[in-house]
This record gives sequence, C-alpha cells and structure tokens, in this order.
Amino acid sequence: MTEKNKIEEESVEEEKDVVTDAPKDETPAISKPVEIEGWVPKTSIGKKVKEGIITDIDDILDNGRPIMEAEIVESLIHGLENELLLIGQSKGKFGGGSRRIFKQTQKKTPEGNKPSFCCLAVVGNRDGYVGVGSGKSKDTVPAREKAVRKAKLNLFKIKRGCGSWECNCGSPHTIPMMIEGKCGSVSIKLMPAPKGKGLCVDKECQKVLKLAGIKDVWSKTAGQTRVKNNLINALVSALKKLSASKFNSKTAKKIGLVEGKIKEKIQ
Ligand SMILES: [Zn+2]
Repeated sequence: MTEKNKIEEESVEEEKDVVTDAPKDETPAISKPVEIEGWVPKTSIGKKVKEGIITDIDDILDNGRPIMEAEIVESLIHGLENELLLIGQSKGKFGGGSRRIFKQTQKKTPEGNKPSFCCLAVVGNRDGYVGVGSGKSKDTVPAREKAVRKAKLNLFKIKRGCGSWECNCGSPHTIPMMIEGKCGSVSIKLMPAPKGKGLCVDKECQKVLKLAGIKDVWSKTAGQTRVKNNLINALVSALKKLSASKFNSKTAKKIGLVEGKIKEKIQ
C-alpha cells in the first residue's frame, strides 16, 4: 500500500463516527416557517417561501412542483433529521470488514488509482415526510453533503393508516395496505402489522421507515438484498407507490388514513 492511500484511509476512519447531525433546537408547535439567515433564493418557489406566501410544504408537493433548493424544505418542515445509511464495507481479511457509510470504488488511471466515495442519506421528520438521496465525490465530506442535500430535494409524503386485520384500531401507526417495490433483482414487500409489533425489516430500511413515521410493519424480501443501494431504492419505490394509490372515503375513514403529517383534530 502506498503512503498516499494510507493517509486517505485514516481520514475515512475519522468520518465514520459522525453519523447523524446534532438535533435542531425545539420549535414551537405552531407551524411557522423558520428563517434561514444568508439564504438568497433563486427559484420562484424559494422566493415565495422566503417572503412567507407559501407556509405549507403540501402546497408544493400536491401541485407537483419541483423543489430545487434544500432551504425550502429546511424552512418549511420542523424537526428535520438526517441519517446516513451503511451501504459500503471496510477492507478486511476473510470476507471484508464492518459496514460503513461510504461505498469506496476506484478507477485505474495512468497516474494511479483514483478513489471515489458514494453515500446514501435519508431525511425525515418522523411524521409523514421522508426523502432519500445519494451523493458521489472524490472525497468523503462533499459526498456526504451532496447526499443530504439531494435527500432534501427528493422529499415526498407518505400515507399511513391501520391496514392490519388483527388490530383495526384506526390510528396511523402502520401502512394502509400491502405494497411491493422493486429495483434490480431486489424486491421488497411491506405488510401492515398490528400495534406494538415494531419494524420487522432490514436495519437500513428501519432507518428510512422510522424517519417516515411508520412504527409497525412486516416485510418479505427477495433477491440480492446485500446490495443496500438497490434495497433502499426498492423500499422508496414501494412507499411512492403507496402515496400514489387512492382510497375511497369509507375505507379511508375506517383505517384512519393520514397523508403527510398528522393533523390535530379541531374541537
Ligand atoms: Zn392498528
């Protein structure tokens, strides 16, 4: 191993411990856009958000307008958390070392090996909004920043409800119906589970579902699920299918369907 590679490996190890950003300050219950200092919006939606014309993220998502600035999501959604998924593997003898957040690949060039790092991030508010994004760069820190930024741009809202026949409680703790997603050879099937069952899925999928606000779910997977990139993409496609599906009003009332955040009942 050359000396250059050694130095790079050490810098990667330092990054390993920093998985989640520090939680933001607690915000008041009233949904009011957070002011971001030093943000100069470039898109028309960004300008409207900054001026305070748009105060709800649903106005943007329901109309299918693209979010081009991460600050839009930051200012409109409170308690946004991000987490990095373990998609890579460190070097080691006898079948590789432990999982880590950076997937390292190398390109052979006349000058030598050029490593590049890929990273997968998930953002969510634990209440109906979630996004997954990937970033790739020559270094670890830019890859991570790119991934978090792209995850914010890919934000979408999910549908929740009680679709479990064992429970029938009508509160949005699980998914409203069984749904399947595919990516490459990997397919994942999510099934509604009764209250208190927890997330019976792969550990990386748990992180996504936790930030989405789903508490109970059963699952079945097939294919090469060790390829975490494909597994997460399959999960996201399943969740997107769920938000695209429609329910009639009678069923929606029975299963307690909630789209996006849980709205408090006005008494
Ligand atoms: Zn239930």
